[in-house]
Amino acid sequence: MTAEEKLAGDAPLLFDSWDREHLWHPYTSTINPLPTYKVVSAKGNRLQLADGRELIDGMSSWWCACHGYNHPVLNEAVERQLKSMSHVMFGGITHEPAIELGKRLLAIAPPSMHNIFYADSGSVAVEVAMKMAVQAAVSKGGSHLKTNFATIRSGYHGDTWNAMSVCDPVTGMHGAFGSALPVRYFVPQPQSRFDGEWNPADIHPLEKLLEEKHQEIAAIILEPVVQGAGGMWFYHPEYLRQARALCDRHGVYLIFDEIATGFWRTGKRFAWEHAGVEPDIMCVGKCLTGGYMTMAAVLTTKDVADTISRGEAGVMMHGPTFMANPLACAVACASIDLLKSNDTAGTVNAMETAMKELLAPARQLACVADVRVLGSIGVVEVKEPVDVGRFQKECVDRGIWVRPFGRNVYVMPPYVTPMEDLAVLCEEMVGILRDSEK
Ligand code: PMP
Repeated sequence: MTAEEKLAGDAPLLFDSWDREHLWHPYTSTINPLPTYKVVSAKGNRLQLADGRELIDGMSSWWCACHGYNHPVLNEAVERQLKSMSHVMFGGITHEPAIELGKRLLAIAPPSMHNIFYADSGSVAVEVAMKMAVQAAVSKGGSHLKTNFATIRSGYHGDTWNAMSVCDPVTGMHGAFGSALPVRYFVPQPQSRFDGEWNPADIHPLEKLLEEKHQEIAAIILEPVVQGAGGMWFYHPEYLRQARALCDRHGVYLIFDEIATGFWRTGKRFAWEHAGVEPDIMCVGKCLTGGYMTMAAVLTTKDVADTISRGEAGVMMHGPTFMANPLACAVACASIDLLKSNDTAGTVNAMETAMKELLAPARQLACVADVRVLGSIGVVEVKEPVDVGRFQKECVDRGIWVRPFGRNVYVMPPYVTPMEDLAVLCEEMVGILRDSEK
């Protein structure tokens, strides 16, 4: 009997043996899967397990459930939309939810954004952004050579083909796909910390790369300020200002992947605001629908959009079946309205202040390499990779939900998290690390 079969036998409500046998979970082995806990409902910042226990959610379901779960306003938006139509094709047809969402997005986006392309998920949005950059670069320069991309190490942009090609080449997914992935240009990750001193040497590799290769490069793609799943690193906004200047000098587009950082997660509406420089193309997702369903959007300037339209194809070459799904648009409108009416910046700043204090004791632990907090993102970087299965069991036993990866134990709780719960979440997380040293 495997450890997982034993778990399913001992706790049939919590661990489902059929699931373990047949369902693939993210990044999972079928031979030796980590346990998956059955959740039966969720409300506010709490997840209800099948055995009756309740967990304080530290993950916002991977950045997206910013209002927590089962929110009455968002539920109402979905129910209302469901009664008129859940879906209709977007080719040759438009609808109010798509128009309303577009207006709301442009009202909070960088001022130069003008055209919006709705996509199905974050990864697809990255594909669309990269396609936009290539179509525009080729149309503008008249050269089919200007089709490659550059980025920084330790980035993460999603799991589809081109998105994978700009994830970190060592810690990302490149290795598993051998020569099947397109080869991109990578420069080192900026080392200057978000809140530290800017080291001008950080930009030199990108400067050199663009001087030498700009004729081949359509765009640079960056997660502004916060690198998420590639390493949970917060870097200095000056890097973005300098990258923008280099892109302008060399005729290279700048793509900001704000899929994780958007909608106040870093304390600002979008993370580009920390640097004050705008991208040519920007991806949003995750929190867009308040975590209710999958949807993303790619925003761009009129110049990029019109350049594509003047190009060889004359159109943007993408058009998914579920583009601008009305249910997703309706709930996204309700989510943005809530975020705007709720003093979200104030809430996130208060979470930042609290987490800085609550996670500080982790600095004393021998197993901890670094502690950093920005907005409502708290990271404890440890020296050795975490045993995820063991760590999660400890979390569940202590009433919290945290899923570490690699050497990062991190939380980005829903904005509705009460301060008492935020304290329990951080204290228990640090407690597990402290007890692991005994
Ligand atoms: N870009 C970034 C920065 C992300 O964090 C993610 C998701 N973790 C993606 C892209 C991909 O989004 P999705 O999982 O919705 O495809």
